[in-house]
Amino acid sequence: MKLITPESVKDFQTCSLLYDYRYNQRLPESIGGRDLLSMRFENTLKEIIYYFFYKKQGGYTPSYASLLNRWEKLWFAKDISSYDIMTEQHESAYGNNASLTTKAASALLSFYENFCDETYIPIAINEDYILPLTPKVKIKDKFDVILVKGNKYYVIKLMFNYKNSHQHMYQVNFASMYNAFMVKHGDRISRASFGYIDLLLPKVTFTSFEITKEDIDSLKFWADELEQTENFVPRRGLTWYCKRCPFDKPCSKWSNWSKNAEK
Ligand code: SF4
Repeated sequence: MKLITPESVKDFQTCSLLYDYRYNQRLPESIGGRDLLSMRFENTLKEIIYYFFYKKQGGYTPSYASLLNRWEKLWFAKDISSYDIMTEQHESAYGNNASLTTKAASALLSFYENFCDETYIPIAINEDYILPLTPKVKIKDKFDVILVKGNKYYVIKLMFNYKNSHQHMYQVNFASMYNAFMVKHGDRISRASFGYIDLLLPKVTFTSFEITKEDIDSLKFWADELEQTENFVPRRGLTWYCKRCPFDKPCSKWSNWSKNAEK
């Protein structure tokens, strides 16, 4: 049984050799400092949003101050001093510790203002799911948050800097969430809205994301393709990803066309 994720499907769509290096061969890859900082920033903010919803689930709305306290606890290592923060040399285009704290405080404030008084009940927070897509392929992902308000369900993905022009990059994620919600909650799907909360928008609120039958069919198609693919070949120079691909070196030496043609 093959276990895939929305990200691995997207890598396969980009280039099958990229998929092979990353998920079959598991070649080591280095992650740049800027990417690491941005991942840590986003994961820390997500942790705080999960904390907020866990508390809401328990019938208590945490204060904005407690969200900020949580940020400081998670973001700043125990041994970092205020002098270190003020003199921090690691400036990057994404930000440094101090500027990212300002950015986080503003995101959390906007989130808090829009969600503290809402009368909803969180029924899923950071909840994993695994779902069969074909007899031999399962997809694994998670629901960031599912809220219930009245008789409506809001199935939410937490995002950062979402752009409408990049909508196609998230169709796999939402198609997967749609399938998983249908399996888990059955008829409730007719009362569910799927969408995202972009934590970096000036107004942090729920925005719907349209999921079409084409998106659902396309996910099934790519799962079938992954199940059947035996030859993982490069698309060198034909995909935008080549410019930043961590596997450029092994890929440049790849020379199995004749071997693959014989199969
Ligand atoms: S460099 Fe390009 S062709 Fe080679 S594995 Fe990476 S994405 Fe694929």
